[in-house]
Amino acid sequence: MLNFTIGPVSMDPEIEMIGSREPPYFRGNEFSKIVIETEILVKGILNATDGSRALFLTGSGTLAMEASVTNLFSKKDKLLVVNGGTFGARLCEIAMCHNIPFDELELVDWEPLTQDHLEPFKHTSYTGVLINHHETSTGVLYNLELIEGFCRLNESLLVIDAISSFISDEIDMCALKADALIVSSHKALALSPGLSIVALSPRAIKKAQAQPSVTYYGDFKTALENGLRGQTPFTPAVNIILQLHARLKKITSVGLLSERSMIIEVASDFRERIKNFDFDIGSTSLSNTLTPIKPASVSAYSLYETLLSNYDILVCPSGGSRKHTLLRVGHIGMLTIADNDKLFFALSDLKNKGSL
Ligand SMILES: *Cc1c(COP(=O)(O)O)cnc(C)c1O
Repeated sequence: MLNFTIGPVSMDPEIEMIGSREPPYFRGNEFSKIVIETEILVKGILNATDGSRALFLTGSGTLAMEASVTNLFSKKDKLLVVNGGTFGARLCEIAMCHNIPFDELELVDWEPLTQDHLEPFKHTSYTGVLINHHETSTGVLYNLELIEGFCRLNESLLVIDAISSFISDEIDMCALKADALIVSSHKALALSPGLSIVALSPRAIKKAQAQPSVTYYGDFKTALENGLRGQTPFTPAVNIILQLHARLKKITSVGLLSERSMIIEVASDFRERIKNFDFDIGSTSLSNTLTPIKPASVSAYSLYETLLSNYDILVCPSGGSRKHTLLRVGHIGMLTIADNDKLFFALSDLKNKGSL
């Protein structure tokens, strides 16, 4: 099957094999050395400032989102949360679940973030701002420079969920003065699901250390301390850490830009060729990770079903209110132009038959 979803995606066979190995004993020196090296590689790719740290949490991206909110903020804080879709709503739900006061900057579907959206909020002193870099449910990439400027005004802590933009899109923690940056294993990193990463600035580390713990498993204080000797407080997803280590070593050896350029090449090819079909591209501010497409003449969901059952091609359907209007086509994993050829063969075939 050809996988054009956003994750889990197709893996590099060498990395995939690591997943099937017998896990090594994780309290040993050898594994600790790998964890320490992996932290250095993560910080390098993110251009994290001196004194930053990266933590490895066992759980999907949502665990890292929740842990970032609960370790950095409390009832005494006031947050601004950007909500333009499912993942922005999730950030709001996390704040709500933990009774952390927040205001919501709501964006309608496919609307990029502008300075005008931020204007009404600029006179409130927010202690933190939460944003997804790429709202995966609609395929809108947000302008983080605007957010950086906004946070600078109030000295707000900036928490960025970069789960679906890491690798694919440019992100520089130092330039953005980001305080927490969240990544997970199964999007463009193309690893097994179940591991998430939070990179923390020195300012975020200080704040987390000054707060009483409200979570046991996801506590940053114990994770920070254990990480100093290449350990995690509890048994981690050992094989995914091994996969992450190998994958980051490969990426840094070819260069991040070169890795990204492969994704950009597949995305650009798709976006050029989709113009020959009756689809509207939902957004004007796109990530390289995926293209959101709205079929003009058929239900998005039935097109997803047809591609899967008749052509063995898996694209990403949408949930809820977008089910019949939006499909998302991913460009991450080991996809190539030849895979796009197969997708466009299927789309042309459907068009010729009059069913598209
Ligand atoms: C995939 C994703 C997540 C994490 O979802 P999980 O199901 O917990 O892995 C969070 N934010 C964004 C923007 C995502 O794309």
